[in-house]
Parts: sequence; C-alpha cells; structure tokens
Amino acid sequence: MIQSDSGSAFKPPLELFKFCPRCGKKGFSPQDVNCLKCPSCGFIYYLNPASSVIAIIRNREDQILFTRRRFEPHIGKLDLPGGFVDFDETLEEALQREIKEELNIEVQELTYYGSFSTKYPYKQVIYQPLDAVFECSIKSWDGLKPCDDVAEICFRSPWEITFEELAFSSNCLILENLRKMKHRSNS
Ligand SMILES: [Zn+2]
Repeated sequence: MIQSDSGSAFKPPLELFKFCPRCGKKGFSPQDVNCLKCPSCGFIYYLNPASSVIAIIRNREDQILFTRRRFEPHIGKLDLPGGFVDFDETLEEALQREIKEELNIEVQELTYYGSFSTKYPYKQVIYQPLDAVFECSIKSWDGLKPCDDVAEICFRSPWEITFEELAFSSNCLILENLRKMKHRSNS
C-alpha cells in the first residue's frame, strides 16, 4: 500500500467509498473489479481509468523534454509534460492545452505513440490514469518557460535518466520503450 508523507494510507476508490451516494446508507461495496453496489437501494456506480495525455518532445540533439514537478504527488521528480483530460475534450485538445499551460509553447503535430497505465496517489486516493502518449513537434521554442505545475524544464537523453528520478511508473515504461527503439535504430 502506498503511504503519504504524513503516514496516512492511500486507497483506490473501490476501497475508499463506504456510503451509498444515492441513499446514504452503509454497505456500499465492490460488486466487481470496477463497480460498487448499494445493498439497500441497488444503486451501482462504475469506476474507470482516468484519461490522461503525455507528450514526447525532442530537441535537435534528440534529447527529450522533461519537467520537474512543482507539486505532489512526487514533488521534485522528473515527469513528461501532459495531464488529465477534461470532460468533453479530445486527447489531442487536452495535450495541446496542457503543453500551452505547462511550457508556454504550441504543438504543431501529434503522432500517437502508445498507452500506459499508471497510479497517481493524491490526497489519500489512488487514481489510475491511462496515459495516451504522443510524439509532438512544436511550432517554435520561443516563449518556452516552466509554468503551472512545472518547477523546471530540462532536456535529457533517454540513456542518462535513471528510473529513480522519474515520478510515475508510466514514465519508466515509456523510457524503456524509447531506449529499445533507439537501440534498434542504431543496430
Ligand atoms: Zn443506496
């Protein structure tokens, strides 16, 4: 189980919710791997992965753009730019918005790279994002600066990053993939 800095336990929503949000009675409990049911009124609520987007942005030296996290979870660790998808937003719109918000630059082209499941512990809840990753080219580097929840921007080769420096398990999986692809293209 993941522990917070203060020592209190983080839990997934399936274990966290105990009262029915419809009738308010106790006994709201897991019915399946992705839903909770109330034994009193029969109300069923389904839980789903949180939709999220990640950008792989390269500079001319083929280094990858990483951000350092300004806030919890994993404050101070390296992350790839991106974030959660808002309601009524497409993956592409979400990524364009996040890149503008975090880096103050604009995406030119998006190419789908793959998807990775991860865990995001925040205020005692373990959310489960499903990260949709895109390779992104940008219109111009002019204006690039750390904004919003980004403390610092850095460019690093996939080979010089260690997994311990990274915030999320999906970051590590993406890095592994990038190294394999680079290895294949070199051999
Ligand atoms: Zn109920």
